[in-house]
Amino acid sequence: MTYEELKTRILKDKPKADILLLDKCYLLAEEIHFSQKRLSGEPYVVHALEVANILAGLKMDSATISAGFLHDALEDSALTFEELKEKVGEEVATLVEGVTKLTFKANPEKESRQADNFRKILLAMSKDIRVIVIKLADRLHNMRTLQYLAEDKRKENAEETLHIYAPLAHRLGVGRIKWELEDLSMKYLYPREYEEIGDKIAVKRAQREKLVEEAKALLDSKLKEQNINAAIVGRAKHFYSIFQKMKRLNKDFEEIYDISALRIVVSTLEECYTILGIIHAIFKPIPGQFDDYIAMPKTNRYQSLHTNVFGPNGLPLEIQIRTKEMNETAEFGVAAHWYYKEGGQRDVKSEHKIEWLRHLIEWMTEVKDSKEFMDLLRMDLFGDEVFVFTPKGDVFSLPLGASPVDFAYAVHSSLGDKIMGAKINNKMSPIRAELKTGDIVEILTSSAAKPNPDWLKFVRTNKAKQKIRHFLKLKEEEEEKKGRRGP
Ligand code: MN
Repeated sequence: MTYEELKTRILKDKPKADILLLDKCYLLAEEIHFSQKRLSGEPYVVHALEVANILAGLKMDSATISAGFLHDALEDSALTFEELKEKVGEEVATLVEGVTKLTFKANPEKESRQADNFRKILLAMSKDIRVIVIKLADRLHNMRTLQYLAEDKRKENAEETLHIYAPLAHRLGVGRIKWELEDLSMKYLYPREYEEIGDKIAVKRAQREKLVEEAKALLDSKLKEQNINAAIVGRAKHFYSIFQKMKRLNKDFEEIYDISALRIVVSTLEECYTILGIIHAIFKPIPGQFDDYIAMPKTNRYQSLHTNVFGPNGLPLEIQIRTKEMNETAEFGVAAHWYYKEGGQRDVKSEHKIEWLRHLIEWMTEVKDSKEFMDLLRMDLFGDEVFVFTPKGDVFSLPLGASPVDFAYAVHSSLGDKIMGAKINNKMSPIRAELKTGDIVEILTSSAAKPNPDWLKFVRTNKAKQKIRHFLKLKEEEEEKKGRRGP
């Protein structure tokens, strides 16, 4: 892939792409990485180009793709943030800086660093989710070229990918990246099983494809009768998900995978259910194998109907039905924001942001309870802190037991000094209430309000204590002055 080819691809998706910016950033990347080579022997700029290409595949905006070109610029050169900002503008420079600062390791030397990893993810996300998407693209290309690393490094990277990056991609709903990260990790962590599954899939490919073709032809004619426009595609299954299923259900490959899979993509939600009815009229459904993720979306916003039926010749067939939009959410997840809003104003709807962040926090909490993960990471997280949001989706980390007063001071001292009430998750609450992780806190202020000595009894943060004491001291001094002056 050359830069020119990538540019053509971007313009095809987005005729209004900022080509000037892309050109500028690519040329700068070329200049910076000029004499650097990767372990593969390729010029380093190939990596920059491939990362940008992955981002373009996710249909990210021009600034994000541009930051993809430069994602290693601050780390691998003497260039400072200020200089970069001058050259490519604040938006790209800030994204690059975010990616540079966001590093995490699965096997940290210091245990406490692990909690930092998650705090970093959370804070980076709350500032700009695009930073995480670039980070995932970077990791994906590194995984695609993992064979050039030494054996122990390969394992270490694969482990990190499987336990941090793939779950992160899953939580953000970026299915496309999640599957590939998992399969690439599996290749290095379970090479024998990886090869076995690959061989077995290849053997029955012809038979499977024939079944899918038959089912497709049958459905196609029925849908035409009903005047429904649908795209029907055969669907490749991913090695790691087969492997997981075999382990989870303690079953053989044949019992799991000897199922062909189809996906039907339609325009409207109603058509999803119409098609489900048509399918169940043609093919007998397998009992207990139906899931309605449209009515009940998964936490990462995944939506689809899943049904298993006895297809042509009574062979089992797995069918997914979804709208085009649901399909894009399944593939791009959080990245779909930029996909839908291209050209127009960017989607900065804070509700969405908070929703993603909440899912991420949920995940981290789950992770804490998973023994496997704990053994690997040995982390102690959330034992003594809570994460709460502003209504705009900014995250603040506070000590356990913190109140809206602590929160107000954490946001801004003037907010703390003027607090007169608080809404927690949209409900009026006492300012001494205990905050919980995931709470959205809105501070109500009044110009007449002032800190009260009683607050010192319940605030938990040093900042709040200091500010309250400071205010009380000023007031005391003022009164003393007044007192000395006399009436
Ligand atoms: Mn990189």
